[in-house]
Amino acid sequence: MPDKSDKLLVLDLDETLIHATSSPLAVPPDFQFDLYHVYRRPGLEQFLLNISQHFTLGVWSSASDEYVEEIVKTITPDAIEWFIVWGRSRCTIKRDYTLDNYYFEKKLEKVKNKGFKLEQIIIVDDSPEKARSNYGNAVYIEPFEGNREDEELRYLHDYLLTLKEVSNIRAVEKRGWRNRMLNC
Ligand SMILES: [Mg+2]
Repeated sequence: MPDKSDKLLVLDLDETLIHATSSPLAVPPDFQFDLYHVYRRPGLEQFLLNISQHFTLGVWSSASDEYVEEIVKTITPDAIEWFIVWGRSRCTIKRDYTLDNYYFEKKLEKVKNKGFKLEQIIIVDDSPEKARSNYGNAVYIEPFEGNREDEELRYLHDYLLTLKEVSNIRAVEKRGWRNRMLNC
């Protein structure tokens, strides 16, 4: 088994690991929760099993705490332990004055209190605004909306391994990571 790094990997849930929708897609969902039809992103289980050998794992979603807890319970392979499973109650509500609406932001300073330095934390999200205040920690991925051919988790896995040993996550240019992996 490979050595785990000293990094914490914080994963978003909706459109990053799963897609949940109240109106079903053309194919049957993987499972249901409440009124939602839930689809796992292709390769999800293998991604979690593989990446957990290299990073300490957390989930942080801006959905309700109860939803997050239930979904995470269902998608988590037995061998995986989460360091944090956080929902909306840990987010900070922010106002976007340009668009005149509100959104929930994940402030990684809150994770710092759990023993990880900001230099050691990677946050993966499909919504840039939710990780805005921790831009240097963020790896943005394409949103998953149910496409069965989606391969994003495979590319993400390979990219994350390149960050495993860097001493300061925030010093690494992460924009364009996907194109660099596609060209490998
Ligand atoms: Mg999301």
